[in-house]
Amino acid sequence: MKHCVVIGGGVVGLTSAWALAERGHAVTLIEREREVALGASHANGGQLSYRYVSPLADEGVPLKALRWLLDPDGPLRFKPEASWQQWSWMLAFLRACRAPVNRRMTEKLLALGAFSQSAFSQLHQATRLDGIALRAPGKLVVYRKDEEFARVAGRVRAQAGSLEQALSHDECVALEPALGYSDTQLAGGIFTPGEAVADCKQFCLQLAKALQQHPNFRGFQQAEVSGFLQRGGDSIAAVRTSKGEIAADQVVLAAGLQSRPLAAQLGIRLPLYPLKGYSLTAPIAEGHHPPEVSVTDFEKKILYARIGDQLRIAAMVDLVGEDDSIDPRRIASLHKAVRATFPKAADYDQAIAWAGLRPATPSGAPIVGATPVSNLWLNVGHGALGFTFSFATADIVAELVSGRSSPVALDGLQLAA
Ligand SMILES: Cc1cc2nc3c(=O)[nH]c(=O)nc-3n(C[C@H](O)[C@H](O)[C@H](O)COP(=O)(O)OP(=O)(O)OC[C@H]3O[C@@H](n4cnc5c(N)ncnc54)[C@H](O)[C@@H]3O)c2cc1C
Repeated sequence: MKHCVVIGGGVVGLTSAWALAERGHAVTLIEREREVALGASHANGGQLSYRYVSPLADEGVPLKALRWLLDPDGPLRFKPEASWQQWSWMLAFLRACRAPVNRRMTEKLLALGAFSQSAFSQLHQATRLDGIALRAPGKLVVYRKDEEFARVAGRVRAQAGSLEQALSHDECVALEPALGYSDTQLAGGIFTPGEAVADCKQFCLQLAKALQQHPNFRGFQQAEVSGFLQRGGDSIAAVRTSKGEIAADQVVLAAGLQSRPLAAQLGIRLPLYPLKGYSLTAPIAEGHHPPEVSVTDFEKKILYARIGDQLRIAAMVDLVGEDDSIDPRRIASLHKAVRATFPKAADYDQAIAWAGLRPATPSGAPIVGATPVSNLWLNVGHGALGFTFSFATADIVAELVSGRSSPVALDGLQLAA
């Protein structure tokens, strides 16, 4: 039985630990905080968006970004830093903003999403996690601009056998009556049945409990990983932590954004940069009319998901470095947009604001798999879709650690040579 040490108690580290334990490995998970899911996995959008995976990097995005930056309530903020990390990430992102690159990456992420959906089903069957507010109401992406909607609807209608449906404004309101209270005339929407939502933080807490019952799980270690004790030049003998060394046969690095400085100690450069986002969690009471399907407002880049008796609203991409403070101006902008779009959906006066840092790669694809260090494995860089992809990437890493091949083609998802 190999002893696998997983670094990071977010959704990616927890699913990795579960997948490894299920395959017969002895697993220890190290998390620096007093509880799991206090990082990016804490109050995210909750969407399990297996089929809506197109990366942010696309043709036309640099031009749109300039418009967004001029709008004080726009979805994007950029604070230039004297940091090589920020500028090299931006350059790589701009290089990825080409239609053929986006098409290729979307195909890969669609395959990853489909695998993740089946991996989640298996995990859910094995664990039957309670209290995670799991529903599969489908996802409606609404468009405000006629040209944008016409372009996407044309593509959807041309795809024979596609699950997606292009809906007019009235059809959108018939599907999701909460849109009828909006002061906005929509151009239309694309509906994908079957897409799910769940509470990511509760999922993490419940999975942590299930892990503690797992016969192969050795336990959580609350400690900060500071580095590695190497054996020879190319393998790790132990993980160095604030509470001493923990010997490891295999190490899975799943520490979100902090994976970057940890990997750098081993000479591995991870192209990760924080894309800061915000969420609001507003209680739903009697008399409110919340959306039941999960809704994405395409132009404003705002997601809405009903999670139990709360409405979760997630939005914004701020390139401002590793700053997860809550900017009251961004929260005010979000309130303004949300109250106009779903005025009767929830008690916005009681909304709890949160900011989190998406650990993002320029291409939008996570980095999974082997490294030049023979017993170090990566599961990082899930960006805007970490909850969605975590089940797939956990299974991939666990299969690789077990000496088998990846169930999904890994080109484009691995550490660049
Ligand atoms: C506003 C917002 C909305 C989002 N909406 C969605 C959505 O709707 N659907 C979706 O699929 N995804 C969504 N995401 C993305 C998703 O939340 C992230 O991709 C995902 O949470 C990343 O998980 P992670 O485990 O890699 O990172 P994290 O959750 O940040 O976990 C990393 C963990 O590692 C620990 N750690 C770090 N350094 C160390 C160290 N040295 N020693 C020990 N422990 C360490 C941290 O404390 C942390 O707990 C959203 C993100 C944001 C910010």
